[in-house]
Amino acid sequence: MITRRSITHALPLAGFALIALATPGPAWADPLYLRQAFFAPSTQSYATDHFVLLHEGDSAWPGEMGRLLEGLYRQFYDDLTGAGFDLQSPGDRLAWVCFDREADFDDYARLRDAFDARWLKGYYSTRTNCVALVRAEFAQTGSPEGSDAADAGEPQFDVRRISHELAHQLTYNSGLLRRGVRNPVWLTEGLATDFEADSLVGAGFSDVNRSRWSRLLEIAALDELVPLPRFIALTEFRPAPGVELRDLYAQADGFFHFLMERHPQALKAYMAGLARGAQGARAREAFPGEFAQSFGPLDAIGTEWRDYLRDAQRR
Ligand SMILES: [Zn+2]
Repeated sequence: MITRRSITHALPLAGFALIALATPGPAWADPLYLRQAFFAPSTQSYATDHFVLLHEGDSAWPGEMGRLLEGLYRQFYDDLTGAGFDLQSPGDRLAWVCFDREADFDDYARLRDAFDARWLKGYYSTRTNCVALVRAEFAQTGSPEGSDAADAGEPQFDVRRISHELAHQLTYNSGLLRRGVRNPVWLTEGLATDFEADSLVGAGFSDVNRSRWSRLLEIAALDELVPLPRFIALTEFRPAPGVELRDLYAQADGFFHFLMERHPQALKAYMAGLARGAQGARAREAFPGEFAQSFGPLDAIGTEWRDYLRDAQRR
């Protein structure tokens, strides 16, 4: 989740969760509506068990992309169910809108989500519930959200970006969180970054995200982490003096991984509470109290978190 105000600072990032606090009607995710509104008549749709891909003509690509998405979907559900979370199945197939031309992707983002996506190659929108992306082989530049890492997926699939955006989409379609509710950004981006992987084999929540983890240990050693009371109340990641966007993502990734490993039941309770919450722009002042209700006193979690990082630095 990056706000538009941060866009000019975020290049060359690619990947995005556009957060809207009001959700439109179901027609916004209707493939037929999408085809009529945004695509040439030659546009194809390809359905798998849980997804529908809208794409331009190509015979092999949608099948391989569909298998990748289904594999990542299974990993997401297996890992979180194994950790004790209660996940629902999405009610409908989840839409992925895949472009061959960056200009078409930019037009789509402007017309459908009313924002400038020229700096992006893909994003999930809570407003439409769709992921839109430029197919990796047609994207000229880009790396995953909040990261300096070069694209490391197979040539046709930027698995790192796809896994990140899919995690956002599944978060809001499995009952973990609810669209239209303002959530703390460490949680939404921490979950998505922790799920990132360079290949299907490495996907899931069980291992740390190596590139982001090594950056986290660097900034922890320099004592440059955002203090926890402030960090858990952020609703957006913005660069600030002395803070880089990739460092905020690294901190979110590590903190989410720590809580998944050490406090999965509290994390589950915390997310369930957020999903039950009122829609709209909640005051972020409420975030620390809600956090403490599930995880206990913030001082104690902060001490445990610092010890966790110190142990990791020694290894
Ligand atoms: Zn994200």
